[in-house]
Amino acid sequence: DTADYDREVKSVCPFCGVGCQVSLKVKDNKVKFVEGINGPANEGRLCVKGRFGFDYIHHEHRLTKPLIRRKDAPAKGLNVDPGNWQAHFREATWDEALDAAAKGLKDIGGTGVAGFGSAKCTNEEAYLFQKLIRQGFGHNNVDHCTRLCHASSVAALMENVGSGAVTATFNEIENADVAIVIGANPIENHPVAATYFKQFTKRGGKLIVMDPRGQALKRFASHMLQFRPGADVSMLNAIMHVIVEERLYDQQYIEAYTENWEAEKAHLAEFSPEKMEGICGIPADVLRDVARTFAGAQSAMIFWGMGVSQHIHGTDNSRCLISLALMTGQVGRPGAGLHPLRGQNNVQGASDAGLIPMFLPDYKPVGDDGVRSAFQQVWKDEGVNPEKGLTVTEILDAVHTGDIRGMYISGENPAMSDPDVDHARDALAKLDHLVVQDIFLTETANFADVILPASAFAEKTGTVTNTNRQVQMGRPAVPPPGDAREDWWITVELAKQLGLAWEYAHPREVFAEMTMVMESFDNITWDRLETENAVTYPSLSPTDPGQAIVFADGFPRENGRAKFTPANVIAPDETPDAEYPMIMTTGRQLEHWHTGSMTRRSKVLDAVEPEANCSLHPSTLRQLGAAPGDMIRLTTRRGSIDIMARADRAVSPDMVFVPFAYVEAAANTLTNPAIDPYGKIPEFKFAAVRIEKI
Ligand code: SF4
Repeated sequence: DTADYDREVKSVCPFCGVGCQVSLKVKDNKVKFVEGINGPANEGRLCVKGRFGFDYIHHEHRLTKPLIRRKDAPAKGLNVDPGNWQAHFREATWDEALDAAAKGLKDIGGTGVAGFGSAKCTNEEAYLFQKLIRQGFGHNNVDHCTRLCHASSVAALMENVGSGAVTATFNEIENADVAIVIGANPIENHPVAATYFKQFTKRGGKLIVMDPRGQALKRFASHMLQFRPGADVSMLNAIMHVIVEERLYDQQYIEAYTENWEAEKAHLAEFSPEKMEGICGIPADVLRDVARTFAGAQSAMIFWGMGVSQHIHGTDNSRCLISLALMTGQVGRPGAGLHPLRGQNNVQGASDAGLIPMFLPDYKPVGDDGVRSAFQQVWKDEGVNPEKGLTVTEILDAVHTGDIRGMYISGENPAMSDPDVDHARDALAKLDHLVVQDIFLTETANFADVILPASAFAEKTGTVTNTNRQVQMGRPAVPPPGDAREDWWITVELAKQLGLAWEYAHPREVFAEMTMVMESFDNITWDRLETENAVTYPSLSPTDPGQAIVFADGFPRENGRAKFTPANVIAPDETPDAEYPMIMTTGRQLEHWHTGSMTRRSKVLDAVEPEANCSLHPSTLRQLGAAPGDMIRLTTRRGSIDIMARADRAVSPDMVFVPFAYVEAAANTLTNPAIDPYGKIPEFKFAAVRIEKI
């Protein structure tokens, strides 16, 4: 009813990488409700988070003033009540807070300072953040949550395809006849994308779901492969073995567009389905059937999520998926392609914008002299450092060794999101100076020396890039509360305090600078985005809405060819034993987003899912002598949590699934910080655990 609001503002949902466009209905400077509009990724659809998860922006816990830690504050720890913080912090003016923030970081200086930027901020904000660390401190110790999400997928894509982004939008599934969804649970985590997947099956498309955990998408699948946790490579190599053995591969495509095929072919000889079924738990005849189904497709797509990426062999998992697509020629055509479903709403954009320690914006290597000189020209700076910086987990390790003593963290919550989170919290407590910029007094802000109050999505101007490479315009609907400011403004003011000669008056100026150093933004202008709301990159002309499919005729690697990189079976870092006999895996739930700072402050979502919970097979619960709703204790080599148990037949009897949104039973207390050597992503998806009824 239009009487219920006095204006409406178009923006983009702040939760997942699908990037649904929304209309925010506003009355009396409050967002009253939200509707889906006709964006390229959602065509009017929204999920429960997009529809009902907006009211956190008006929550009483919003930070409204800069805060500075009191001299007589209790020792740093996870000990601040976000509604009652006065014993720990005092309110400050912006001048005072920015001065304190900059002084503390300057006093440490150089490689002693690191930054975590945010995949929830805009492209312009991500760009400014990485520039501040690189220019302000002369090195590349800047990273963000892509390291915990799809870093291994990006590593494999960069290595073998030459680009870290998707080769086709998820909407292309409309043109496919077969699709694999592996290690992803789109009905809960990318719900609007899942609606396209369901429609695809309705019109006869064959959906092959592969996941150690059963899931709702199974109901729509032609094949459900519930393989053993961590056994991805054995299963995928067995499928590819059949394609080689039965000569189902696309010889013409392989010859025209790839390299290293003979090595891949020879490598796969060892992985017959009969040999691999004992490792991956999928019968050989099913593996053979899946291989024939996929290789027999006219057009096929592969979608994957963090079930693939968050392993010490995450890069190998993605290498297999890339090889599978290449050998069957399923890249660069309508209905064909590789699509890692990105997590955060702007993790694609934040990565593109350079919040990565080894790459400047657009994935340009920091070690390349030509690249650095191009940036130095635009940045009017002689000092872009050629050495790769440290990644998220390496930075926190470096805090423990005393090499890093100061941090600037914007919109990230490592005190909840990092593996072995007690290690991360101890690191945050050890820092001599921590500046946190956020909209709530998050678990990470508990450890801050200075807290800078920032803006939620509905309060800011800026662009975001979704999983489809669609760059979309976000617009402010309401003012930030109190003295809170947009993140770009805060970063610019902090840069000035650090002595940088920055002059940006509006995000459009930042975007204009980005277009000077990022070819991916060729033909995309701020004005276009204001008018068109979304443009997909690459866009080939000022009127091209962008290319849904890329690499129709070669790949952006030096020789123009994609590469097969063979992958071996590697066991998880720790395997169950007598002391820790079960397997723990972690993930998200439909109603709660990541560390819960937004969704647990959203009335509807919190009412639907108010309590920390984990899922076990009913037979496992019976063996424990526990009933659904009972409290159980989960213990790994890192620590213990007490949590309410639910019965779920989708979880295999040797597993427990734990969502990571709940601070009172933080899943990451338990997770293993061992990392993939290439993508440097931690093994969130596999830990040996002991389970007891309490
Ligand atoms: Fe938001 Fe993702 Fe849901 Fe769309 S699918 S409404 S982007 S959370």
